[in-house]
Amino acid sequence: MPKPLLATLFAALLIAPIALAAQAPSAHSGSLIRLALIDGQSGGTYHNWRLTTPVLKKELEETGLFSVTVLTAPASDGDFSTFKPNFADYQAIVMNYDGPDWPADLRAQFEQFVSSGGGLIIVHAADNAFPNWPAYNEMIGIGGWRNRTEKDGPMWYFEDGKLVSDPAPGHAGMHGNRWPFQVVTRAPEHPIMKGLPAAWMHFPDELYGTLRGPGKNMTVLATAHSEPTNRGTGHDEPMVMVLHYGKGRIFHTTLGHDVAALSCVGFITTLQRGAEWAATGKVTQKVPATFPTANTVSYRVDIAAMDPAFMASPTPRPAPSTTPAPAK
Ligand code: ZN
Repeated sequence: MPKPLLATLFAALLIAPIALAAQAPSAHSGSLIRLALIDGQSGGTYHNWRLTTPVLKKELEETGLFSVTVLTAPASDGDFSTFKPNFADYQAIVMNYDGPDWPADLRAQFEQFVSSGGGLIIVHAADNAFPNWPAYNEMIGIGGWRNRTEKDGPMWYFEDGKLVSDPAPGHAGMHGNRWPFQVVTRAPEHPIMKGLPAAWMHFPDELYGTLRGPGKNMTVLATAHSEPTNRGTGHDEPMVMVLHYGKGRIFHTTLGHDVAALSCVGFITTLQRGAEWAATGKVTQKVPATFPTANTVSYRVDIAAMDPAFMASPTPRPAPSTTPAPAK
């Protein structure tokens, strides 16, 4: 990454507005949109679903549009005999779950729910889950890790302003350090994106690259440039996308590694709007005045503080000085 851009990124972080009022729930007299949020497994402690689930639930419910029921599934090797969600009770499912497999009957019910018109919201590492479940990979369009390679599909990214697929062999899924990065709108007329700026600075997060998959019925709404100087691909990688599976609508964001990333007003706004679109096909929410600009991040301290570690150690920050500590 050329030095000026790096400087801009950290400058953006440093001049970020520190405190932003929570959005007041909008007055809502009708019935709420029913969402089920599935958690219960992740690829490692770095994806702490016990911390991120309450954040996602709060961000969705504070719109006044949704009620979120958390369904904690067993880990893939666990006992599923008592995990019998009735997906039909909900209008959309939010996936904050990353495991390798599910029992066949649960997979079939999930497929039936989405193909018959249920909404699906995929957040960050939920696109690492289920590498060997073809229908799930069709729903998410692209995914990474868990031994995905070219056998699982080509890589998808933007080149010269267009979505391209790249069949080159290799692993699927990578990211560099968690730096702020700019997200670029690619489908400004889509209901989720309407009124958002052409570009906005995302709070420090993992920028996923080399994701692979069938990419069927997929529209990329926003990309971000994966910088080679941050171990990136040099491509404009998909960050936010929508897909169709049967009659179901899917909103997929690769953003949201941790509570800090989830505190970005850009993440929150796209999640809230994406969830409404997945559940109803429409977006009625306004873009908040605190939305980040092309060069300045904007995040919510009340959300960030839901991770006790954040206040103790904001991430990322420039490397500490190398002055040795005084000898005792
Ligand atoms: Zn992550």
